[in-house]
Amino acid sequence: MTNAFFEVPVPQNEPIDPYAPGTASRVALEAELERMAGEQIDIPVIIGGKEIRSEQTEKIVMPHDHGHVLATCHHGDADAVNAAAKACKAAEREWQDTPWEHRASIFLKAADLLAGPWRDRINASTMLGQSKNAFQSEIDAACELADFWRFNVDYMREIYCEQPESAPGMWNRMEQRGLEGFVFAVTPFNFTSIAANLPTAPALMGTTAIWKPSSTAALSNYWLMKLLEEAGLPPGVVNFIPGHGPTIGDPAFAHPDLAGLHFTGSTGVFQHMWGAIGNNIKNYKCYPRIVGETGGKDFIFAHASADVAALVTATLRGAFEYQGQKCSAASRLYIPKSIAGEFQDRLLAEIAQIKMGDPRDFSNFMNAVIDERAFDKISGYVEHARSASDAEILCGGVCDKSAGYFIQPTVVATSNPRFKTMVEEIFGPVVTMHVYDDSKLDETLAQCDTASAYALTGAIFAQDRYAAVHMAKALEHAAGNFYINDKPTGAVVGQQPFGGGRASGTNDKAGSKLNLLRWCSARTIKETFVPPTDWRYPFLG
Ligand code: NAD
Repeated sequence: MTNAFFEVPVPQNEPIDPYAPGTASRVALEAELERMAGEQIDIPVIIGGKEIRSEQTEKIVMPHDHGHVLATCHHGDADAVNAAAKACKAAEREWQDTPWEHRASIFLKAADLLAGPWRDRINASTMLGQSKNAFQSEIDAACELADFWRFNVDYMREIYCEQPESAPGMWNRMEQRGLEGFVFAVTPFNFTSIAANLPTAPALMGTTAIWKPSSTAALSNYWLMKLLEEAGLPPGVVNFIPGHGPTIGDPAFAHPDLAGLHFTGSTGVFQHMWGAIGNNIKNYKCYPRIVGETGGKDFIFAHASADVAALVTATLRGAFEYQGQKCSAASRLYIPKSIAGEFQDRLLAEIAQIKMGDPRDFSNFMNAVIDERAFDKISGYVEHARSASDAEILCGGVCDKSAGYFIQPTVVATSNPRFKTMVEEIFGPVVTMHVYDDSKLDETLAQCDTASAYALTGAIFAQDRYAAVHMAKALEHAAGNFYINDKPTGAVVGQQPFGGGRASGTNDKAGSKLNLLRWCSARTIKETFVPPTDWRYPFLG
C-alpha cells in the first residue's frame, strides 16, 4: 500500500559509448570478448526460476567463425511450455498485486545493471553470438534496451494517469489490470534489445510471459535472463524456453491461457501464428492480443535536388550496417537520372573502403550474416541478379561461407522497378538501385508505393521543400517510420517509436505507450456517493 503518487525518474536516452582506441571502456570490452570467446557455457531452459537441462541440445557458434562453439543450448518442448504456463499462473496473482512502483523499480534496476556492470557481457555476447561490431551492439544491446526499460516505466505512469471525467455525485476511475494468462513473446535474432523488450513490456504491465528466443541469439538472450534475475524479477514472471519454433509454438498457441502474442520476426511466421490463434479462438479464456512487427522492403527515394553526399552516406549505412540484417535496412533505391552518375561513382568509391571480418577486429565495419540458412538465401538473390537480363551487379556479389558466413556489400542496378530484389525482403547486404527519368517522378513514386507488400521504413532525400512535401504525401502509407534527409534505420526509443503497416506488422510502435496498452486490460470503476433510493423517474409523474 502506498500513500503517495510517485513521480518516476525522467527517462533519458542512454549515451552511446564510442569505444575509441585507448579508452578504458574499449580495453574492458576487448578483455570481455577474449574471456567469453575462451569459454563454452550451457544455456538451460528457465521455468519458474529453475534451470532445466534437456536431452535436445544445439551448439551456438560464432557466425564469423562457425567452427567456434560458444555454448550448448538446451531446447524446450511441449512439456516445457505447459510447465511454463503453470509457472505463469502461479506467479500471476502476486505479480499483479505487487504495487506498480515495485515492478517499475525492477526494470529501472535492470537498466542500470545493463548500462553499468553488465554492459560488457551483454555487448560481448551480442558481438560474438550475433556477429555485430562494437558500435552496432552498443546501440542495440546496451543503449536501446536500457532505453526500453526506462522509457516504458514512464509510459506506464502516463497510462495509469489517464483517468475519466466524473460528473457530480460520483467518482469514475480507471485501473489497468495485467492480463489473465501469459503473453507468448517470440523474438528475432537481429536485435538483442527487441528480444528482451518483448517479454518484459508485458511483465512491466503486470502480465506474465513465456519467452521463446531465437536460437542464433540465445547467448545474449540467456545473459539477459540472468540479468533480470539479478534485478529481482520474481520466478515465473518471465519463463525462458529456447527451441525449435513450431515445437514451442504449437503447444503455446493451443494453450487456453494464451493472453497475447508479442512477436518480432518474419512476415510468413507471423501470418502462420495469427492463423494458429484464429483456429484456436474458441479454446482461449480471453481473446489474445496480437502484436507483430515483421519484415520490410525499405526504400530510399531521391529527388533531383538531393544532397548527394548525404544520400551516399545514408545508403551505405542504411544498407550495410549489421550486414543489412535490420528490418529497417535500405534495400531499394530510386535515383533520378540527373544525379545517378555522381551518386553511383561516389557510393562505389566509399563501399570499396569497407572492411569486413571478425567483430573483435574493431576496424571491421561489417561482419558475418547470421547463419547458413541466411547465407544461402541471400546468395540465392545475388545469383538471381547475376543471371538476370534486366539487372547488373555494380559491386560486391562475392559470398564465402568457408570459415564464416561472409557476403560482400552488394549493389545491384535494374531497369525494372519490379525486379525480384526491388520487391522481396532479402535481409542481407544487398541493395538494388532503380534509376528513373527525372520527368517521371510521380509515376516512380507510385511504383515505390505499390512495388512491395511491406510498409516499414522509408526515406526521401530532397533539398527542394515543395518536392519533399509532395513525396511525403505520395508515400504516406508506404512506411510507418518515414525519414526526410536521413537513413531509414536507427530509430531511437522515445524519439522515433518504431513499427510499420501493411504486411510489415500491426504498427503498435515498440518503445511507446501504444505498445504497453496492449498488455493491460482496463477496468472502469464508477462509485456513486449517494445512490438513488426511489426507482421512479420524474417523467413518470
Ligand atoms: P524468424 O521469423 O525466422 O524467427 C523469429 C522467431 O520466430 C524465432 O525465435 C523463431 O524461432 C520463431 N519461430 C519461427 N516459427 C515459429 C513457430 N511456428 N512458432 C513459434 N515460434 C516460431 O525471424 P528472424 O530471422 O529471427 O528475424 C528476421 C526477421 O525479423 C526479418 O523478417 C525482419 O524484417 C524481422 N524484424 C522486424 C522488426 C520490426 O520491428 N518490424 C525488427 C526486427 C526484425
